[in-house]
Amino acid sequence: MSKINRVGIFCGSSMGSDGQYKTLTEEVGRELANAGLGVVYGGASIGLMGTLADAALAAGGEVYGVLPRALIRREFAHKGLTQLEMVDSLAERKNRMIALSDAFIALPGGFGTMDELFEVLTWNQLRIIQKPMALLNHHGFYHHLNEFIEKAKACGFVKEGNNGLFHIESNLKDILARWKIS
Ligand code: AMP
Repeated sequence: MSKINRVGIFCGSSMGSDGQYKTLTEEVGRELANAGLGVVYGGASIGLMGTLADAALAAGGEVYGVLPRALIRREFAHKGLTQLEMVDSLAERKNRMIALSDAFIALPGGFGTMDELFEVLTWNQLRIIQKPMALLNHHGFYHHLNEFIEKAKACGFVKEGNNGLFHIESNLKDILARWKIS
């Protein structure tokens, strides 16, 4: 595994149904910064995305955002980032986020988060990239998705060898330990 300097974080543009998601996201932003890791994310100031950036910046971390111009009004560009790249499409956002990151973590989120995490899985599957991807299974958030992937595997649609394309952990500490980051 090559050295991990920046971690791409996929997470909701919403706050979720209760405060636990904000608390989790603040912890992740802070702990990544404390571990000396840069954060790459979607560049928004709203929802868990904004929470993540605020927490990482407050802890002295570097935060790189990639925001499609068409979403400026909907997601409100974060004004305090280390770097904010404006791009022309959602596809370009994913491309740039993937290029800027050495590894990825999916926090709780919705369709956008899932789209992004599956983009990384499929690129890894095709060996276009070889970058670790972790699902942060906070209070079982990704349990059913993991079950679904097991089902797809049992049905012969996901190859056994593709098991290692992602790993699922219940907390950030275990993800960083797996990546040998203390
Ligand atoms: P969500 O998890 O649905 O709240 O979305 C999280 C982030 O993913 C938001 O910044 C969305 O704009 C973004 N997003 C939604 N659809 C896509 C897509 N097709 N490609 C890249 N990003 C997306």
